[in-house]
Amino acid sequence: MSIVLGCIGDDYTGSSDLANALTRAGLRTVQTIGLPAADLDLSGFDAVVIALKSRSIEPADAVGMALPAQDWLRQQGAQHVMFKVCSTFDSTERGNIGPVMDALRGGDEAPLVLVNSAFPETGRTIYRGNLFVGDVPLNESPLKDHPLNPMHDANLVRVLGRQSAARIGLVGLDVVEAGAEAIRARMSELTAEGCGAAIIDCVFDRQLPAIGRAALETPLSVGASGLGIGLAAALIERGAVARSAAVHAPAAIGGPLAMLSGSCSAATLEQVARAESWAQVLRIDPRQLLSEPAEVDRILAWAREHGPHGPILIASSAAPQAVQALQAEFGAEAVGSAVELAMGRIASGLAAAGLRRLIVAGGETSGAVVNSLGLTAFAIGAEIAPGVPVLRSVGTGQAMVLALKSGNFGGPDFFADAAAMMP
Ligand code: ADP
Repeated sequence: MSIVLGCIGDDYTGSSDLANALTRAGLRTVQTIGLPAADLDLSGFDAVVIALKSRSIEPADAVGMALPAQDWLRQQGAQHVMFKVCSTFDSTERGNIGPVMDALRGGDEAPLVLVNSAFPETGRTIYRGNLFVGDVPLNESPLKDHPLNPMHDANLVRVLGRQSAARIGLVGLDVVEAGAEAIRARMSELTAEGCGAAIIDCVFDRQLPAIGRAALETPLSVGASGLGIGLAAALIERGAVARSAAVHAPAAIGGPLAMLSGSCSAATLEQVARAESWAQVLRIDPRQLLSEPAEVDRILAWAREHGPHGPILIASSAAPQAVQALQAEFGAEAVGSAVELAMGRIASGLAAAGLRRLIVAGGETSGAVVNSLGLTAFAIGAEIAPGVPVLRSVGTGQAMVLALKSGNFGGPDFFADAAAMMP
């Protein structure tokens, strides 16, 4: 049996978010970390999400990771591949959304690519090509202060235009409201005008299936989990796959629980503050990590001492001003990678000591942690908060249960909510 949908995610939490959305939309979905092992058993799965950690790396490296992933998915029978990006279009002036999209598209003659990062359920909407986060344009949202990908332009036609070699068009809301046929007609018009990709407006969840239907007529689309929901609905509607209600229900795994937070998003800062009331919290200082080689050992010693007495939370999360001050002193990349490296080492130190239940806040942070733990694939479990499922590792190594949360996701009590769902 071949899969009906192949997906490539540009970070790990975003990929879990998509795998969760596809599962809830009725596709049996597995998430892999990086290119899957050749012998990964896909029987019983409709969709595969290959999670890459390629959002903030050199564009050429991101392309080098995405192309083999696409080849693998096509070999498994995927006629449509979705490149999953963040619903807030996290990227830099140079990429990596544009360069990866161009490479996956495979040349100027290839069909137009629909690009839709809207996810109305989570407050991400697009109107006239402008992305809104809740009530404000992207460039006025907390994303303007992101440590790695600060977003200063809400107009996605412009943002993608700066990153892609293709000309970028717009499929407006009036067309979307008219349905899949009208979208397809507009796509043909844009192709005739020389466009290689188009941002498509979307302000209501009910518009997603029509967008999915139109996208399925082409080999490639780019977007966030909302697009995934639209694609799943369209695949079920056309009978390519039967709707499944199966959600993996992991058995209790037991033992201590740890939380790691490297996200500096507004939502995570509040979640970390809330956790102070019930977990033992260690705030780590990136300055120490940069200057003191033994700092991770000190943190692990703290975890060994406190872990047996209840959940622990180790956080580098800091407010924008503190982040900016550190970045001005040491450089954004140096600080970011020092914290990520440390979080990875802390996670593997904890796992070596027997930890099997782990919650991680931060997309890049989760990537560093999962890589360091050597996990290769996840089954998707219950939903903790919109876009954040319980994950159970499958394949190699010790079974673990995890929650990987991208910065802005989850309510104020996310850590407590997650802990309660990961017995
Ligand atoms: P999010 O999901 O909120 O975007 P990420 O983990 O993707 O979170 O990105 C946060 C980045 O900020 C990571 O590279 C992390 O290492 C870095 N970081 C974490 N703590 C700090 C800090 N105190 N100062 C500067 N950068 C930090």
